Amino acid sequence: MHQKTIVEMAAGLRAGEFSSEELTRSCLQRIETHDAQLNSVITLTAEAALAAAQAADARLKTGDATPLTGIPYLHKDIFCTEGVRTSCGSRMLDNFEAPYDATVTARLKQAGAVMLGKTNMDEFAMGSSNETSFYGAVKNPWDTERVPGGSSGGSAAAVAARLAPLATGTDTGGSIRQPAALCGITGIKPTYGRVSRYGMIAFASSLDQAGPLATSAQDAAYMLEAMSGFDPRDSTSIDQPVESYAQSLEQDLRGLTIGLPREYFSEGLDAQVGAAVEAAIEEYRKLGAEVKEISLPNTALAVPAYYVVAPAECSSNLSRMDGVRFGYRCEDPKDLEDLYTRSRGEGFGAEVKRRILIGTYALSAGYYDAYYLKAQQVRRLIRDDFVQAFKDVDIIMGPTSPNTAFRLGERADDPVTMYLSDIYTIAVNLAGLPGMSIPAGMVDGLPVGLQLIGDYFAEGRLLNAAHRFQQVTDWHTRMPAGFE
Ligand code: GLN
Repeated sequence: MHQKTIVEMAAGLRAGEFSSEELTRSCLQRIETHDAQLNSVITLTAEAALAAAQAADARLKTGDATPLTGIPYLHKDIFCTEGVRTSCGSRMLDNFEAPYDATVTARLKQAGAVMLGKTNMDEFAMGSSNETSFYGAVKNPWDTERVPGGSSGGSAAAVAARLAPLATGTDTGGSIRQPAALCGITGIKPTYGRVSRYGMIAFASSLDQAGPLATSAQDAAYMLEAMSGFDPRDSTSIDQPVESYAQSLEQDLRGLTIGLPREYFSEGLDAQVGAAVEAAIEEYRKLGAEVKEISLPNTALAVPAYYVVAPAECSSNLSRMDGVRFGYRCEDPKDLEDLYTRSRGEGFGAEVKRRILIGTYALSAGYYDAYYLKAQQVRRLIRDDFVQAFKDVDIIMGPTSPNTAFRLGERADDPVTMYLSDIYTIAVNLAGLPGMSIPAGMVDGLPVGLQLIGDYFAEGRLLNAAHRFQQVTDWHTRMPAGFE
């Protein structure tokens, strides 16, 4: 059952081959059996899941079901879930039960999807390895001595291990695409503003976007459709109708122009990963696409600009965690100052503190112009590079990550090397564009991701290009040994 795509699951539910309750029990059972090895799920909501599955079974009989009705999924623990712990991977929110649902949570509920529980993640979504979580590191199912990528590492590992067919993720600088690449699954970060951020705990508000993680582009298309759309409660959400992503999947790729940025195939890219990506591009040529080299000249500035903008925004967003209104509070505070400093000192982990310090520094009087303002100017140049490129090409392709999954602990004490894990993904967030990662090869038994970057609101085109590739390749169907 767990090897089916959601399209197959939806068909089976409608044909009465199995019920959502059976499907849900099968996922819960797999989590029970396999997650001790992965640590991908931090809160299991088995009872609520079974109740939702029974409701879905009833709804399926009435005929007003959606493609997601009765389909189990795991939810990244950054989305508020009413009455369920919403920890964001932090000690700070370990005791926090959200009093309301995020818009994404509510939409998936309305669609009839069955939430199994919440997935492990880097603390407040800061990281590229899922090692900064208060609940411990997540392991990559392809090799449990390696990282799954971050920050949506729990979601990616769980889907790769077929513990659930779908999971949500968020991507501020690569956190859907990089773990999707390292775990051999499909993930898409939509255009900024496509999916509501209401109730999604903010890391860097001008960069954060939610999206699906799935085993195929087709499955991701259905989930993204359910998650997307204008939300009056998020002033940055965009009032534009959602196209039917599932309907555009079959479009022919003849005449599609693919741009390969020179800067994404240079120094720093592992040679074998580069070769796998080139081989994937060759498949696109066979599918009738035209491929040309392009340049995104400001690529090297993306990581430095991001590590000013993102910490600046996080320092502001995280100031609400003060030990007073919700979340962790230190024992026996002496006075108010002591309450603030010890609650935050004890509640946040090292990486989060590092970012708050950097962000506070960059925003302070006298430094603001030199750092924050400069980074925003660089951000504009990065965006302009893409706008220029999309005059000539339809989709930009390249590697998602410069290498395959690295070993646990390998980069934990070296923040700069860790930050460079996202060298190919970060610019996409700075520009607000949609980006996707699909499995495109294997190197020494570890998955390689191909990144597809589209113009604003070109999610449909990306999913279409990904789906076409998945029809002629089988990388996305491979499963890690021991989890088949
Ligand atoms: N790895 C990047 C960071 O640490 C991106 C994280 C994300 O996309 N949430 O900030």
